[in-house]
Parts: sequence; C-alpha cells; structure tokens
Amino acid sequence: MAADMVTTPLADATNTHYEGLARDELLITRCTACGRHQFPPRAVCYGCSGAGTLDWVRASGEGEVWSFVTFHKAYFPLEVRSVPYNVAVVLLEEGPRIVTNIVGLPDEALAIGLRVQAAFRHEGDQHLVVFHPATEPATHPATDSAASTDAAQTS
Ligand SMILES: [Zn+2]
Repeated sequence: MAADMVTTPLADATNTHYEGLARDELLITRCTACGRHQFPPRAVCYGCSGAGTLDWVRASGEGEVWSFVTFHKAYFPLEVRSVPYNVAVVLLEEGPRIVTNIVGLPDEALAIGLRVQAAFRHEGDQHLVVFHPATEPATHPATDSAASTDAAQTS
C-alpha cells in the first residue's frame, strides 16, 4: 500500500516541492490556463477546473500568519525537540496557504496578520520551510556589510 502511494502522480508532484526546499526554493503550482496558484498540488485546478495544466513556480516566500496554535505537549516526540512549539498556517502572497512553523520570535508574540518571510532549514536529508517575521534583521551579515561598503565607495 505504501509503495502504491509514493508512485501516484500527486506524490511525485509533492516530491518536486521537497526537491525545491533542498535548493532553498519554495515551489508551488500555478495553473497555465487561469494563472491561479495552488498548494498543495492538485490534479485539477480549483480556479478553472482545468486538468493537467499546472506548472511549478518559485513563490516569493512572503506572506502573513493566517492561523496558528501553540503546542505545550509533544505529540510526535521524534519530530519535536522541545515544547512549547507553534504550528502555523501562512497565507502566501500568491494565495495558497502552507502549514509551517514560525521562528525568530516568542510564541506569545505570534499574531494573525503578522508579515513573515520564508527561510529554509536542512537537517540531514530533511528539508523544511519555516517562516520568520518579515521585519527581522537580515540573516546575511556578510552580504549586508558588502552592500554598505559598496554604498560608502560610491558616495
Ligand atoms: Zn486554472
């Protein structure tokens, strides 16, 4: 049964999403007929009912918290290092919603509508997308200092 599940077209499509995460790319599908984005991938577009017209595109990674919950008990101890932890639904700029975790702020600061930006985590062969507040300082200080050096040289 499990072998059947991993050979279905949708399971293959989901693999495309995870392969994107391995490259720090958040991939979602876009209907070539009506342009609507959707995730998770579906065999039929829920915008125009077109079948077989979905392309994979790279999402901006921008969105807002649509819903969230804080767990105070680890129901899946192998996947959670510590409690409490949050599970959130982020409404992507392109329209689809994605289940994820919000990092970079205390759970008490989580709020509906909080602007967030995707970040990627790699642990062995597991690749995840999480989101951090969009107002969080840049996480690439080397790039930032290079940019400010360039700005100083041009002025
Ligand atoms: Zn469509």
